[in-house]
Amino acid sequence: MSERILIVGAGQAGMQIAVSLRDAEFDGTITMVGEEPHGPYQRPPLSKAFLAGESDEESLELRSPAFYVENNIVVITDEQVLDVRWDAAHGTAITNTGREVAFDKLALTTGADVRRMDVEGVDLDGVLYLRGLADAKALKSRWDAAQDVVVIGGGFIGLEVAAVAGKNGKTTTVVHRSERLMSRVVSPTTSTFFKEAHERRGTTVLLNTQVSRFVGDGAKVTGVELADGTLIPADIVMIGIGVVPRGDLAAKLGLELANDSIVVDEFARTSDTRIVAAGDAVVMPHPLTGKGQVALESVQNAVDQAKVAANTLMGVENEYHAVPWFWSDQDTMKLQMAGISAGYDETVLRGNPDEEKFSVIYYRDGRLIAIDSVNEVLDYMAVRKALGAGQTIPSENASDTSVKLKDMVQD
Ligand SMILES: Cc1cc2nc3c(=O)[nH]c(=O)nc-3n(C[C@H](O)[C@H](O)[C@H](O)COP(=O)(O)OP(=O)(O)OC[C@H]3O[C@@H](n4cnc5c(N)ncnc54)[C@H](O)[C@@H]3O)c2cc1C
Repeated sequence: MSERILIVGAGQAGMQIAVSLRDAEFDGTITMVGEEPHGPYQRPPLSKAFLAGESDEESLELRSPAFYVENNIVVITDEQVLDVRWDAAHGTAITNTGREVAFDKLALTTGADVRRMDVEGVDLDGVLYLRGLADAKALKSRWDAAQDVVVIGGGFIGLEVAAVAGKNGKTTTVVHRSERLMSRVVSPTTSTFFKEAHERRGTTVLLNTQVSRFVGDGAKVTGVELADGTLIPADIVMIGIGVVPRGDLAAKLGLELANDSIVVDEFARTSDTRIVAAGDAVVMPHPLTGKGQVALESVQNAVDQAKVAANTLMGVENEYHAVPWFWSDQDTMKLQMAGISAGYDETVLRGNPDEEKFSVIYYRDGRLIAIDSVNEVLDYMAVRKALGAGQTIPSENASDTSVKLKDMVQD
């Protein structure tokens, strides 16, 4: 009998595993189960073009329905895998409808869920999160009628929503708990730039600020009360305070977890070598150094790690080695990041933040490790390429904008 592979989670990583298996001429059965009512789709536009009304639902699809038929990939939507039973050589997944799916090998691409707030009024109508298409539609259906938009959380998604709100002429406030925006991933220079750039566009950015409750008129939100008692009017509150990896099923399977994330090795193998995992649900060794444990919530990681997982399922050990990269579009500011800046001990500023065109280049022990670029695609590309080739750019020269970064690359 031909081999059966089950993929739990019909998102970016799950879809890529299925595609890569077929590309590698896997001729067994591929079944993908996803709990959302749609097949795999792109999430990045949800806080950008889709919210701005510049793209529609159909354009979000990662592949057309015909693709799955032509490639013999069975996609079961609207069903959640609740448990897995192991018999001697194979397993059976059980979904919430009671369906049983037998398999020989298993891939977990369960992604992440939004981190939820536990404050009074969080259930009022108009207080929203943004992870999936259903959330985006809920936001969109209230968007045109709303004037006052309050975003809780100054991370990528919150700032992208704030940028669309500002552009659409809404009175926009970002309430952020820590002392600088996107503080987990970017340098103070980049954080300060984004604060000032959003303020220039008319958005109010409140740092070091806590929410005490959401207030409403009946069932509908009307405002956000801050810890100091200030009340900010709100027709919509969008909460974007990070994500929690979906390790619930992995926990039931007894897999090793680190703070809810599924622990995988450089071959995307979990602690049970019959099971691979990829995407937002996992932590892995740093994809360039092979050291430590990192979580990367990005399309690049979901895709590249899924390719590694598909190889592993095919019995081919192909180590995950890739330059992490990410982007965030906030009005006219295109932020592009390559590498992982955590642990940096030096930064070099190249270009001029006041012109909204610059890069921050990160170093550790004198070696290049990462870049954030705003509207400087050539800098970003040069660093991404250098990191991929294991090369560096001397920090003492990197600020010199009369020389292209790509011409400074050294071994
Ligand atoms: C609004 C938004 C904007 C973003 N913007 C960017 C961006 O600009 N750039 C970028 O690189 N990344 C961006 N991302 C992140 C990117 O979309 C994710 O990193 C990527 O989708 C991760 O893919 P994944 O397959 O791991 O998880 P997901 O795409 O979340 O897919 C996981 C799927 O598994 C399902 N699932 C979970 N458990 C079960 C179960 N037991 N049974 C059945 N189904 C299950 C989930 O419902 C979900 O559909 C953004 C994300 C969001 C939400």
